[in-house]
Amino acid sequence: MTDLSSAAGSTAALSGAQADVAPEDEFRLRRSFAIISHPDAGKTTLTEKLLLAGGAIRMAGAVRARGERRRTRSDWMAIERERGISVSSTVMRFERNGLVFNLLDTPGHEDFSEDTYRTLTAVDSAVMVIDAAKGIEAQTRKLFEVCRLRDIPIITFINKIDREARHPFELLDEIESTLALDAAPVVWPVGMGTDFYGCFDVLTNNFLTSSQGRSHAFDTVRPMDGPDDPRLDEAVHGDIISEFRDSLSLAREGYSEFDAEAFREGHLTPVIFGSALRDYSVDQLLDLIAGFAPPPRTQPTDGDPVEPTDENVTGFVFKVQANMDPNHRDRIAFLRLCSGRFRRGMKLNHVRTGKALTVHSPVLFFAQERQIADDAVAGDVIGIPNHGTLRVGDTLSEQKVLNFTGLPSFAPEVLRRVMPGDSGRVKQVRTALQDLAEEGLVQVFKPLIGSQWIVGVVGILQLDVLSSRVAGEYGAEITVEPVQFQTARWITAPAGSDAIEKLKAEALTSLAEDRDGRMVFLARNSWELDNIKQRFPDLVLRDTCELT
Ligand code: GDP
Repeated sequence: MTDLSSAAGSTAALSGAQADVAPEDEFRLRRSFAIISHPDAGKTTLTEKLLLAGGAIRMAGAVRARGERRRTRSDWMAIERERGISVSSTVMRFERNGLVFNLLDTPGHEDFSEDTYRTLTAVDSAVMVIDAAKGIEAQTRKLFEVCRLRDIPIITFINKIDREARHPFELLDEIESTLALDAAPVVWPVGMGTDFYGCFDVLTNNFLTSSQGRSHAFDTVRPMDGPDDPRLDEAVHGDIISEFRDSLSLAREGYSEFDAEAFREGHLTPVIFGSALRDYSVDQLLDLIAGFAPPPRTQPTDGDPVEPTDENVTGFVFKVQANMDPNHRDRIAFLRLCSGRFRRGMKLNHVRTGKALTVHSPVLFFAQERQIADDAVAGDVIGIPNHGTLRVGDTLSEQKVLNFTGLPSFAPEVLRRVMPGDSGRVKQVRTALQDLAEEGLVQVFKPLIGSQWIVGVVGILQLDVLSSRVAGEYGAEITVEPVQFQTARWITAPAGSDAIEKLKAEALTSLAEDRDGRMVFLARNSWELDNIKQRFPDLVLRDTCELT
């Protein structure tokens, strides 16, 4: 098989460069990214192909099995119980041409939850997978908005071009208009569906095709002088090639040219047409990430931003996962390193509690195994086993006291009252809710009046997981009942304003505190929310809040 990666200029240059990288610059060799998509667009298939291309798995099917199992609710629960699988899939690390890729999984089915959003705070770039027949779907858009909040650069992979699809222009127009992002075609299809001959890489002028016929993986790279190279006429049927030339030339006129700077700033998305299933353009995607996606970025804190070059070791917890053994309640906290060189056994300051934490057995996660991490640099994700000390949003820092900011909590879309099945087990239920809120599974709201706690979730399936885990791990049955509230908003008022006091006087039963004591307004419907906004113009209502 022709080595596609070395054919691309960008990565060839990098593999030469990495031999000279000084230890303090090693972070520049990290590419930490996530894939965002709507269910069924092909994320699992693409993940698998990326892992295969990176040599992290040897056989097709390894990730697929997980994807298929994920489809039914009961199986999803079973997977949750076998926590080993979902823990190791939170981050999948692989190497290719001297670069280390950390692919962070964003659960994206019915199991969609805050985890997904928070994972995006721990990456430096994202791949947006779009089904070529369907275009941009609801969940892709939601996830895209989160990326935009953090200016995360996005590469677009338009998948399933082996099947009948929408016209490339239509898809590019949709990206530009619905996402307000410049689209720059970089890998353009030559024919589509049954007339698909291959792809043309605009950056390298390579024609990518299969020596074995139309439905096979790309194994041939034919360097061309450009799209008008007469050698293309020999390889592709006359009508198709002229259509390709016309469409590519129109695309180049009508859309943006690839600009690495604009991409890194989050204003432009390079667009690759391909197929995860057929292995079209997967190597080109990796080349693009390798060559142009940014290495670890500067991270915002409540003080000065942290540069990946800072010597002080820092990181933040973006996910906590309860471990396999429910009897021990031990957990793994996933820490995204932001600066310095972390070494095993290091003592880090747990900023929230002010206590020192010695990290004896940090874990690195590969696609199919875990290893103890002896050292790690900015961009890496290490798992830290603990007994509940670490929670989502926590900062660890070797010396300086600082807090990373920007890890959001989202207003829940579903609110429910949780009642213990047995009134003797109120305490267990409260502990369970508090613990699981720390893990980020649910949000807990304590009404200012009354003693029954309300939980909020972003996806309804989280409620089933909640009941099952409270029963399994805390030995308490719960019932989950509807409440009159539909959504929640974090509220604050500027100093000197009496808006909150007035609101309390008027709507005490709609007020609650979240687990950190922040005031929350529970709204019955959007009309009520608008009404409150109008009547209390001082009041700031937020649908996200930053974890501290
Ligand atoms: P996910 O839900 O986004 O993880 O999607 P999957 O990777 O599970 O894919 C959903 C379905 O689309 C599966 O049946 C895949 O086999 C199929 N699929 C994925 N990529 C392609 C592709 O490039 N071409 C075609 N024809 N089917 C694909």
